[in-house]
Amino acid sequence: MENLRVPGPTPLPNEVLQSMTKQMINHRGAEFGEMLNDVTAKLKQLFQTKQDVFLLTGSGTGGLEAVIVNTLSPGDKVLSVSIGVFGDRFAAIAKEFGAEVIPLSFEWGKAADADAVRQALQAEPKIKAVLVTHNETSTGVTNDLASISSIVKEFDKLLLVDAISSLGSIDLPVDDWHLDVTVTGSQKGWMVPPGLAMVSVSQEAWQAHSKAKMPHFYWDFTKAKSYLEKEQTPWTPAISVVFALSVSLEMMLREGLSNIIARHARIGKAARDGIKSLGLSLFAEESHASNTVTAARSADGLDTIKMLQILKDEHNIVLAGGQQTLSGKIFRIGHLGWVTENDIETVISALRIVLPQSGFKGD
Ligand SMILES: *Cc1c(COP(=O)(O)O)cnc(C)c1O
Repeated sequence: MENLRVPGPTPLPNEVLQSMTKQMINHRGAEFGEMLNDVTAKLKQLFQTKQDVFLLTGSGTGGLEAVIVNTLSPGDKVLSVSIGVFGDRFAAIAKEFGAEVIPLSFEWGKAADADAVRQALQAEPKIKAVLVTHNETSTGVTNDLASISSIVKEFDKLLLVDAISSLGSIDLPVDDWHLDVTVTGSQKGWMVPPGLAMVSVSQEAWQAHSKAKMPHFYWDFTKAKSYLEKEQTPWTPAISVVFALSVSLEMMLREGLSNIIARHARIGKAARDGIKSLGLSLFAEESHASNTVTAARSADGLDTIKMLQILKDEHNIVLAGGQQTLSGKIFRIGHLGWVTENDIETVISALRIVLPQSGFKGD
């Protein structure tokens, strides 16, 4: 078996894998309805919310699009707080649907500065919503969302959050932090295959939704809510992925959210310590380094593309490279969902062998 250590999709526990061999059921029948209710209730626990939570069939990016088109109208001013590829993508979606995007971008590898968010909100009183990525998977940085949220709420703006690679792995109390719409994706910390986005929607977000004029048909929170009341989804859902989620949520609640968060914190630290022990440096500023993905800087003649190939060919380990301008400059280890310290030790041990084979001179 391949040792897949990219920041999603992740490997699946056996119980989850087995659950997907089940025969199809009627998605408009009682059995699916019960499962949908159960999954939704469990998701609320892990989102730490009493808000509405919906399952949407699509990848994380589909979830981000759903967030935008359900809360905004063309011409709305939105502040885009971006620290990497996924922050930029969130803004690009808003722009595509006609929002007036005011970018607030930070150097890749750094977290967003809450004071800068305050200044941007002071400078432009007409801003309606703030877009922010909780955990920037492209750089391995986790934003201080509690601080950002308290400022956004001081100004009484809508806060739309990409938590695709953090929810269920890193602490994210949706209600305590007053997040209006929060989206995550099934293949990240949830130990299930790609195919589902999960979103929470606050009262304020519902108010915004009632006035939102961006076009939406498939992604429609009103339809999602009225169908959920009938224990259904508006469109045929990815039933097998819901089977999987039903099993994985059971496992997650058995482990307990605080234990899951602590496990990711331990493993994140092990990954960072491991990278440093190899003589490499972290791409992320360490005070905000992510507990779900670690980005290491390339160095000293190291050919990261060759390194990734040798890891795959000779050690069966799959890591991720850098995206866009970070290609060849960093590589990334995913450590979220179904992962133990042992998995990361295996990666670090293999890197110890492969780094010198890939041109790394060490220090
Ligand atoms: C993976 C990821 C996405 C994109 O999700 P897809 O499922 O690939 O569409 C967006 N934002 C973040 C932070 C991610 O980690």
